[in-house]
This record gives sequence, structure tokens and C-alpha cells, in this order.
Amino acid sequence: MITEDLERLIALLAKLPGFGPRSATRATLSLIKQREKLMYPLFVALDHALRAIKTCSICGNFDTTDPCKLCQDSGRDQATLCIVEDVADLWALEKAAVFSGIYHILGGTLSALDGIGPDDLNIPRLVERVGNGQIKEVIIATNATVEGQSTAHYIADRLRKTNVSISGLALGVPVGGELNYLDEGTLSAALRSRRLIS
Ligand code: ZN
Repeated sequence: MITEDLERLIALLAKLPGFGPRSATRATLSLIKQREKLMYPLFVALDHALRAIKTCSICGNFDTTDPCKLCQDSGRDQATLCIVEDVADLWALEKAAVFSGIYHILGGTLSALDGIGPDDLNIPRLVERVGNGQIKEVIIATNATVEGQSTAHYIADRLRKTNVSISGLALGVPVGGELNYLDEGTLSAALRSRRLIS
């Protein structure tokens, strides 16, 4: 019933995160119905992004230049490196404007189950960067998931030989959070990462 071209489009869209065959079908129909307003601008934006966006060879960020603008910015603290899993995490930190150092994007987490080892992530380049002597502190800001935390432990182990100070994000009670609404994992992490008040 569906033509081959549309089937191909649906199959491709269905591969996007958060999409399945149903939402891919709805998106395809929506594109066809809005050829001028949506389909053509999307086509132009994809074509432009395909040509313009590069992966930064230093940190792994996406930008139109390589090195990326963050890596080229001499105003940032070159001695403090924040390690994140994904470019989206870098965006979140930049949006919050809470960090003025430099970044390193891993491109995922270690996973024995999915066969993802250190060489599949941006880890060899990380070890090289940290070893060059300019970086004094490394903040491992991987997600508070099992994979994120085991990746953080692996990285901390790999960097232990260097003289940099290694820290992780504090895990626990969110600002404005009430204890009785937190799950057990969050509560126990908060208790473990307790700090001295005075
Ligand atoms: Zn960069």
C-alpha cells in the first residue's frame, strides 16, 4: 500500500532516538502535508548541517569549526577539564553557565553488554590531553547511572598516574527537593556524598 520512497523515509525516521514505527509514520505524513512549511526547510537544514557540522578533534564537541569555539576560547580556564558523556550534557552545562573550564566529550559510556570499550569512546584522546601537563583538575560529570558511574571509575583509574586532581559531581538531594519524595538510590547517594557544614 505504502510506496517504497515513503517506506524508506519511515524506516529511517524510526531509527531516531525516541521514535518508533508509529511516530515515524506520523512524522512522515506530517512532512508530506506541510511540504513548503516543514519538509523543504527540514531538507535544507539537514543538507546544511551535513556539510557544516564538524566534530572537534580536541574535545569531541559539534561545531562549524575544528577546533570548536569553546576550545579556541582563551578566556576559559584551560586547567580545569570537565568530562561528559554527550554533547547534550555540554549544552546543559553551558546553558546553566556554571562552568568556565574546558570540556571532553566521551561519546557514550563503557558497556560490556554492547561491546563498547575504552577505544570506542574518546578515552585515548582524554588520557593524552590530561598527560600534556596543562590540566590541573578533572571533573568527571558522567550520568548518575550504573554505566555512567562505572565509566567514571574506569577513567579515574586511568588518570590516577597523572598528577591532576580528580573529582566527580555530588550526587543527591536536588535543590528544592524533599527527602520523602526521593527514591532510595538518590537518598543513599546523598548520604554517601555528605559534606561538612562547618
Ligand atoms: Zn572542542
